Amino acid sequence: MITHTSFIPAVQNLSTETGWVETRNALIHFEPMFERLSFLAKEQLSKAGLLSSVQSPNQAELFVQGSVLKIYLQEDKNIVHDEGYELFISGKTAKLKAKTEAGMFYALQTLRQLVYSSEAKIPYITVKDYPAFEWRGFMLDTSRHYYSADFIKKMIDLASFHKLNRFHWHLTDDQGWRLPVKAYEKLTEVGAWRDDPRYSWGAIKGGFYSEEEIKSVVAYARERHVIVVPEIETPGHASAILASYPELGCTGGPYAVETRYGIFKEVLCAGNDAVFSMLEKVFDTVCELFPGPYVHIGGDECPHERWEECPKCQKRIKDEGLENASELQSWITVKVSKMLEERGKIPIGWDEVLDGTEKLGLPKNVVVQSWRGVEGGIKASSLGHKVIMSPLTDGCYLDYKHFDTEEEPGMHKVTTVADSYNYSPIKPEMTKEQRENVLGGQGNIWTEVMYASKIAEYMAFPRLSAISESLWLGEEKKDFISFAKRLVKHKQRLDRLNVLYYKGQLSAQ
Ligand SMILES: [Zn+2]
Repeated sequence: MITHTSFIPAVQNLSTETGWVETRNALIHFEPMFERLSFLAKEQLSKAGLLSSVQSPNQAELFVQGSVLKIYLQEDKNIVHDEGYELFISGKTAKLKAKTEAGMFYALQTLRQLVYSSEAKIPYITVKDYPAFEWRGFMLDTSRHYYSADFIKKMIDLASFHKLNRFHWHLTDDQGWRLPVKAYEKLTEVGAWRDDPRYSWGAIKGGFYSEEEIKSVVAYARERHVIVVPEIETPGHASAILASYPELGCTGGPYAVETRYGIFKEVLCAGNDAVFSMLEKVFDTVCELFPGPYVHIGGDECPHERWEECPKCQKRIKDEGLENASELQSWITVKVSKMLEERGKIPIGWDEVLDGTEKLGLPKNVVVQSWRGVEGGIKASSLGHKVIMSPLTDGCYLDYKHFDTEEEPGMHKVTTVADSYNYSPIKPEMTKEQRENVLGGQGNIWTEVMYASKIAEYMAFPRLSAISESLWLGEEKKDFISFAKRLVKHKQRLDRLNVLYYKGQLSAQ
């Protein structure tokens, strides 16, 4: 029989007492504010096996004998942290306490992890828990490869099982546009499809999400207290847009949806007002489909070569009193940020949005996501911007191989599970003021080489499990040796959840 706590992420405070309670049957009692969550509790705990006696012929007998676990979802206004909770299991009761639905959801995930690591009985424990960081995210690139909405839901469920609460959905890039936009139908008719470079006889691949699918993903995430952050890349990584509407590029094309990976010089023409009319429509659609407060505007890896030669772009530079193409990019960032501000959204940009802003400044509400290293994040935090730390140097890039000798489809660089575990959004050299601007961090699953969703899943776990602990537990209590031991047990849960994950060496040493 397996029964163990081994939570991942580890809980802040845990004590275990002698004793256990059978879980072959359970009743959920909830206070009115947790009514909605009680349905999810029933569904998740049933799947984990807690309510298996629903199908058991002995159910009535168990019931009569009183071997029923009573689960109470109770409001407790005294719990300090909004996402915090307490969980007490003793006698024949499990009491889950929180002051918000989010806190109760995390109490439920801890109980769910316990049930997944148990067979028919769970131990008496007391847990008092809360997260270290507000932003605990993961990014999935669905442009380089398209994955089904069902797979995305599976990833959201797994992320929330690890108490992550942000899903950064990379919806557009050179290799495919995945968002339907009214009045710009070609974005999906043309921009969502490309040649499949694995075949030489002209196979095409791609796809896009219907409005219904997107709404259903957003609702599924919302139920699990995950905010969906859609990303629309501007002004670079635009090949799919240009293939659909060549007039939006500096040269007029012809363009194609890219089959190669990298950085391309064909970007949106900054001198063409039609580009901004299109972006207005795109953001209208984004606001219709994504109720969350954030929209990611990209801003990374945008070469300025075309702008240097384009009369329209040069005219824009002159008309706006700008010095050069670098300032033109910051002009676009300001313009696009304003579009989102007008729509009540908070823009997020990759750390290049800081470049060329010395004169124009970056609007204060722009959240900066540091990826090239931590420097961009540190600089942005000193300028008063909120910051998300996901540096490729620190274990956050989950397209890198797990280990040097692994024959896996990762990029050439290596990020071990230990690297991901040792990652922290806070750096020792940061001042108190800088630290206060760090919202948290995330693991990024770039998918250039992941042609099937199972590969993306395999590359994500268990490194995303490690990142979840960095973001939930915080720096002071982290302990890799303890994590590695718990991971052995946690893998049994991943097995039960039908997750394909990496099984090799965890660290380079
Ligand atoms: Zn131009």
